[in-house]
Amino acid sequence: MSDTVLVVGAGPTGLSAAAGVASIGKKVILVEKEAVLGGAPILSGYAKLVPSGEWAKDAIGRMVKRVEDNANVTIYKSTKVLKVEGEAGNFTVTLSNGQSANVGSIILGTGFTHFDSINKPEWGFGTYEDVLTTTQMEQMVANGKIACPSNGRVPERVAILLCVGSRDRQIGREWCSKICCTVSTNLAMEIKEISPTTEVFIYYMDIRTFGLYEDKFYWKSQEEFKTKFVKARIAEVTKSVDGRLLVKGEDTLVKRPIVIPMDIVVHAIGMDPSEENPELSKIFGIGLEKHGFVDKGEHYTSTFSSTRRGIYVGGAALGPEDIDTSISHGLAMAMRAVGDMNALVQKAA
Ligand SMILES: Cc1cc2nc3c(=O)[nH]c(=O)nc-3n(C[C@H](O)[C@H](O)[C@H](O)COP(=O)(O)OP(=O)(O)OC[C@H]3O[C@@H](n4cnc5c(N)ncnc54)[C@H](O)[C@@H]3O)c2cc1C
Ligand code: SF4
Repeated sequence: MSDTVLVVGAGPTGLSAAAGVASIGKKVILVEKEAVLGGAPILSGYAKLVPSGEWAKDAIGRMVKRVEDNANVTIYKSTKVLKVEGEAGNFTVTLSNGQSANVGSIILGTGFTHFDSINKPEWGFGTYEDVLTTTQMEQMVANGKIACPSNGRVPERVAILLCVGSRDRQIGREWCSKICCTVSTNLAMEIKEISPTTEVFIYYMDIRTFGLYEDKFYWKSQEEFKTKFVKARIAEVTKSVDGRLLVKGEDTLVKRPIVIPMDIVVHAIGMDPSEENPELSKIFGIGLEKHGFVDKGEHYTSTFSSTRRGIYVGGAALGPEDIDTSISHGLAMAMRAVGDMNALVQKAA
């Protein structure tokens, strides 16, 4: 029997889980495949986070420091789990750095993969230099200058297209990515703050700034920052003879075709299942749900269980999720992992 917990993935979920387990006084081994901790917000260079408005590098940086400074946490970067043997309370895991460890529970915070806009070629990504993704636009915001990549000019108009790689049955993405409406309304305000002469348009099917975000992001973006919301179905993004981008589609409120010239088009990319999941499924012996996210075990009394006893899963590995919720999942998994291990140790005694 071991009462050490293995946490896989050092994004918001894994960092929260590791800090939670360590705070109860148990040992944690935290394994991250990349050379840097922090998950998507750090690896993809997010700007200011919703809803806090704090820079990602500061907010997530604090989460990273909290585990780095904790003597109960052993961190292995650029490392993956190769093999898992045994059962709840007594797993033996083999790591790619040559180490092996005996752990009582395993927490997966292995996250998601950003939708690759190349899979939506008719919307211009990969063809036109001035068609970007939200993560690229966030990097521009973080650098404090809004300019067209093709010619360095300040854009007169920026279009943000929502639901790119989400809610799109034609390309097998039948889920809402939950956070991209809020991220996009926030991005529109950030663009405006840096470049007040730029007009920002958001093309949407529906606006899903859920919960309290409706007021803080949707209405604020529209009323205070004059973001223009266009309910539309986009057909394609092409280029006019004068070199501007043309967003073509149908205004679904007035049922008329629309073509509006733009200088930058931003794809609000969604959250795909992690491309690691088929491999994780084999190594950890866990199930995946029909879209390829990690499957849950029993929902109400065994929350955050995977389909294998002793292995827990939370955050964006389960499906599109925001950071605040991922952090809560991490803490809840810490409690479950330690509680279940304690019960097994007591039973064995
Ligand atoms: C464009 C965009 C902007 C967003 N902005 C916001 C925002 O402002 N506010 C907000 O609340 N949410 C935002 N989100 C959502 C946010 O990114 C997620 O909620 C959050 O990253 C989920 O955290 P996670 O730890 O579950 O997953 P991730 O952040 O994906 O972290 C998973 C970690 O696990 C590691 N990993 C994966 N597989 C393995 C493996 N086999 N072995 C070891 N390590 C592994 C990865 O390298 C990564 O470090 C945004 C999402 C998108 C798409
Ligand atoms: S959150 Fe908004 S942009 Fe994202 S998939 Fe859902 S409806 Fe589309």
